[in-house]
Parts: sequence; structure tokens; C-alpha cells
Amino acid sequence: MKRLEHYIGGRHAPSRSGETFTALDPTTNEPHLEVAAGGAADVDAAVSAAHKAFTDGPWPRMTGDQRAAVLRRIAAAIEVRDDEIAALECRDTGLPITQAKGQAKRAAHNFRFFADVITTMGEDVYRVGDAQLNYVVRKPVGVAGLITPWNTPFMLETWKLAPALAAGCPVVLKPAEWSPLSASLLPQIMEEAGLPEGVFNLVHGIGEDAGAALVAHPDVPVISFTGESGTGQTIMRNASAHLKTLSMELGGKSPLVVFEDADLERALDAAVFGVFSLNGERCTASSRVLVQDTVYEEFVNRLAERAARVRVGDPDDPATELGALIHPEHYERVMEYVRIGSAEGARLVAGGSRPEHLPSGNFLSATVFADVTPGMRIFQEEIFGPVVSVTPFTSETEAIELANATRYGLAAYLWTNDLRRAHRLARSIEAGMLWVNSQNVRDLRTPFGGVKASGVGREGGRHSIDVYTESHIVHVAT
Ligand code: NAD
Repeated sequence: MKRLEHYIGGRHAPSRSGETFTALDPTTNEPHLEVAAGGAADVDAAVSAAHKAFTDGPWPRMTGDQRAAVLRRIAAAIEVRDDEIAALECRDTGLPITQAKGQAKRAAHNFRFFADVITTMGEDVYRVGDAQLNYVVRKPVGVAGLITPWNTPFMLETWKLAPALAAGCPVVLKPAEWSPLSASLLPQIMEEAGLPEGVFNLVHGIGEDAGAALVAHPDVPVISFTGESGTGQTIMRNASAHLKTLSMELGGKSPLVVFEDADLERALDAAVFGVFSLNGERCTASSRVLVQDTVYEEFVNRLAERAARVRVGDPDDPATELGALIHPEHYERVMEYVRIGSAEGARLVAGGSRPEHLPSGNFLSATVFADVTPGMRIFQEEIFGPVVSVTPFTSETEAIELANATRYGLAAYLWTNDLRRAHRLARSIEAGMLWVNSQNVRDLRTPFGGVKASGVGREGGRHSIDVYTESHIVHVAT
């Protein structure tokens, strides 16, 4: 079995306690990795290496151009490993191989993009008449603690690593315990690119141990976290002892709202993509479809037909559209929601069970529940799998009420050809990000994040740089 270790101060290391945990292959649920289980002592060693790189090393003192050159080399080193990263991710997470390839490409793009951001970003200057010149100096905030989830792990790790490094912060990355494999390529990538020693550190481990130790460490002034809203609450409580800066990308239950005047074929494409791609394990999944009553039955029937055609299978097979869910515990949780939906009286119109040709592993057919009402748990709770609920509405007001009727507010998708209505709804729906007549495609400069229980703060473009820098203002009399 392959063994994974921490990477601390430029060296691979086992856990100080000698403890390990195993990660499972989602297609068989057999252990396929033995991973160092980090604890407080490992986190402490990683933070001290990063802290030394911050106080004594060149990285925070380099110009944006110099750091950008290293970031571009990191992007190139990722690009030459595209296929390898995709294969590891596919094996470790059950993501279909074609989709894993797209995520690997995006990871390289994250580094190129933040190299561009840091070289083109200016700092603000305010002239107060003839009396004063006020200018802003941005400084890297210190050691950044990066805690990431198991869905599209490599892409999401790089989405934090790239801006933190661009801003001049040394980092300690704690990847999710269910998907540690692709992160194990990062040490070599960073070394090849010439990142100074101690700037990148990696500690594997269980969230409640390694993650919690990182959050509790006094020399880590900023935590960027992506994961469940409940974990976000725990982290916020634990980080309060040191009043840390927190950036939190949390859960979602995003609505896709379809009006009768919409292009229904395109809206169907978006609905299928939104909840069945990436195995439905996507934070911005359009997991609640709200459809105007006049086209409701037609839409439900067509969505059910489309869902039945989604090819579930071996993640390694390029024809597969829906692979294996990450872990047997998660699979059980998703299956429990399928049982809950039926028990609550929702109408199962597609999927709902394991495909016959896949007797083992965490496979579930694309699942559609119709006639879902806002009181049902499958309407309210994040399932994080290939399960969508469909609910009818009669008026624009009701559509807005339903869209806003959960604790989450990450994304929303609107399908209508009435432009004025689209703008009205865009203002009324409680979501950090909203797409009109389009799906989840975005420019990386835009603010990414959620409202309500879906997040705190924004990442993306200069918003990410804000997370990892302190802005000092200098007032000069002129
Ligand atoms: P999770 O909250 O269980 O775990 C995320 C990370 O936090 C893991 O590395 C875990 O080890 C760590 N962790 C767990 N407990 C901790 C603690 N007490 N202290 C510190 N760290 C701890 O989330 P998950 O199940 O890995 O990921 C799925 C969730 O992530 C979903 O809710 C999804 O919506 C969300 N997500 C959000 C975004 C976004 O951008 N908003 C993106 C991807 C995923």
C-alpha cells in the first residue's frame, strides 16, 4: 500500500506519534493508502518552519514579480503532470476521469492567474486636497493555515495556495483525510519550481486533530477553510481565542429557478450539469430546482429522462459521467437522504438506488425527486451527492420565497427570457453568486463566496489577496 507522509520545512516526515490512518478506494472501499496522521506536534513543527520562512526567509520580502515567476513555474510543473494528477484524483475520490482532467487544468490556471493578479494589482492612494497624501501598504499577514475538503481536492488546495503564496505568506496545508493523494505531489512540484524551503508545508490528518491544532496555533493569524457549514462554526469558535482572520467557503443548497418563458432545453442542460457533474459533490450544485407550474410536469418528465441517461460507472472509463461517491460513510448519508425523501412523500422520478451493473463501491444512479415541499429535509439540507429535488411555484414572489427558504445562500441560477424579471430576482435572491441563463462558469477575478450559512468573506482575484494581506494606511502631510 502506498504511504504518504507530511512535508515540513522542506523534508518528508512521518508523524511524531508514529500514527497513521488509511484512505479507501471509493470503487471498492478497500484501503489503498496509509497516511501519516498528524497531531499537534506535527502541526507545531510545520508552523515553526513556516514562521521561520516568514520572519527570516526571502519569500515575504520578494517583489510580486519575483514571486509570480515561481508561481508560473509551479503552474508549468502541474501542467506536465496533468494526466497523473487526474488519475490520482480519480482513484482517490471516484471523480470521472474526464472531469478530473478538467480540474487538474484549472489547478495550473489558478497559479498562472494569481501570478497575474499579484503583478498587476496596484495599491490605493488617496489625496486629501493639498493637505495630505494617504497611501495603503499591503503586507503578507503571516503563516496561512489552509484547510480543504475532499471534493475536487487538488483544485481547491491550489485555489488557496496560489493567492496565499502570491501575497507572500508561507503556508501549512491540511488536506481532507478522505482525499490525501493528489496533495502528495505538491512537495516535488514546489521544489522543482524553486519555492524557498519552509514556505510550503503539508500536514495530513484527521480534522479534529491536525485541523483543530492548526486553528488553535497562536502563530497562524489567518485560516482559510472550505468545508461544511457545521465545521465552519466549530473553527470560528476555536479561532476566536486568537481573533484570527477567517475566510470560509461553506455548504450550499442552491436553487435553479425556471420560468415558463425560459429556454427549457438549455435550462435542462444546466440542471443536469449543476447537480450530476462532479458526482453532485459540488458546493455550488443546483440541488433544488424550482419550476413554474405551467411547465412543471413537462420539466419534471424531461429532467427524469435526462437523469436516467446519465452514465454511472467506473471513474476510469472516459464514457462515465457519474463515478463513485467518495466514501462509504458519505454514501450511506446520501442513501439515507434518498430514504428520507421517499418517507417524506416526495415523488421519486429517477434513480434512487445502486445501478445493477455496479454491485459494490459507492455508486448511486442520478436521482430526481419531484413534488418536494419546503418543509422537507431533502429541500433544506445539503445532500452533496447526485440527488436533486424539484418544486413547483406559481408566481415570481413565490419563486423568490422558495429560493430563499433555506439557511444557505451560496449560488443561484435563473432561467427566464424576461430581462427585467432577471434583474429583479437577482437583487431579491439571497445568494453570493447568481447566474442568469448560464451555468457555473465564472471569471476568477469575481468575488466567490456565499451569504447566510454558506460562508464568510470572499475569495477570487484581489478578494483572495485581501485574505492573506494586512492593509496599512500611511497618512503623509504634504
Ligand atoms: P468538512 O467540513 O467535513 O471537512 C473539511 C476540512 O476540514 C477537512 O480537511 C477536515 O479534516 C477539516 N476539519 C474537520 N473538522 C475540523 C476541525 N474541528 N477543525 C479544523 N479542521 C477540521 O467538509 P467536507 O465534507 O470535506 O467537504 C464537503 C463540504 O464542503 C460541503 O458542505 C461543501 O458544500 C463544502 N464546500 C464548499 C465550497 C465553497 O467554495 N463554498 C467548496 C467545496 C466544498
